[in-house]
Amino acid sequence: MQTQGRQRATLPDEFALIARLVADLPHRRRTILGPGDDCAIVARGASSILFTIDSMVEGVHFKLGWGTPEQLGARALAVNLSDVAAMGGVPTACVVNLAIRPGLTRRFFDRLYGGLRRAARAEAVDIVGGNITSARQMAITIALLGDAPARPLRRDRARAGDEIFVTGTLGDAALGWRILAGQKRVRSSARRHLVSRYLAPTARLLAGQRLARLRPAPAAIDLSDGLLQDLGHLLERSGVGAEVDATSIPLSTAYREVAGPDLSLALGGGEDYELLFCIRPGHSQAKLARWLRVPTHRIGAIVGRPGLQLRGAVRPRVGGWDQLRAQG
Ligand SMILES: [Mg+2]
Repeated sequence: MQTQGRQRATLPDEFALIARLVADLPHRRRTILGPGDDCAIVARGASSILFTIDSMVEGVHFKLGWGTPEQLGARALAVNLSDVAAMGGVPTACVVNLAIRPGLTRRFFDRLYGGLRRAARAEAVDIVGGNITSARQMAITIALLGDAPARPLRRDRARAGDEIFVTGTLGDAALGWRILAGQKRVRSSARRHLVSRYLAPTARLLAGQRLARLRPAPAAIDLSDGLLQDLGHLLERSGVGAEVDATSIPLSTAYREVAGPDLSLALGGGEDYELLFCIRPGHSQAKLARWLRVPTHRIGAIVGRPGLQLRGAVRPRVGGWDQLRAQG
């Protein structure tokens, strides 16, 4: 993640720290794309591989008891698969680091690995090694390799005139997280939908792979930190701006039932692991959805002027929004 000037002061500490750490890394000829995208791209012979890593830490990303150990194992892989999906790649192999603490049983780890193995098998990913360490909190970290397509989907490829689409519905996982954390009381089938969107996300691998067949290759990012923040990353990397129509952001029935007209979590909540992509105009929403095999909605357009214009919504109280506002 590279940031400059005025924007740096407005970014969360996490991103400022990343910018410092990656400022002077050794990049040799093998590096096609270094830090700042969903995956790194590394040359290998005539082709190239994708490389990404993600951690889930007890007390930070989840609490034991929110879901099953199987769900936890599967989710740790899914968040990595989503980064490969965002590049249009095919995941191939992973290594796993487990941080274990006293009080967790062998049965717990058997079940965690059961879920991880099943998720890996479903996407033909080999689990080829790992490491175990002791810690105060349980954590699972996965580093994942993938095959890059001929023209990977990158964050820095959006151009003025592109139309912005997202897959699936937004805000569900953030609402599910709040339900699990006891911040929202919901007694309905909506609860089950929202909670499962948080506990068991689906990486949009097929959609990403199909998008990578388009020419020119679309710009893309996966929605892990929330629409406004993730779109902000893509705009920054591409050096463009965007106009987003808040009224066209896709919401699930469950989201509407629980949050009503409040778009805060659809705009600023993370963890949906849907894809956002920017393509040249002329694609019909319905045809795209059929081809990508996932509901797909147009939410706005890329413009040359930097900054993000959000139309049709009152200003939500979320961090991502303030960050983008500062860029405008
Ligand atoms: Mg990502």
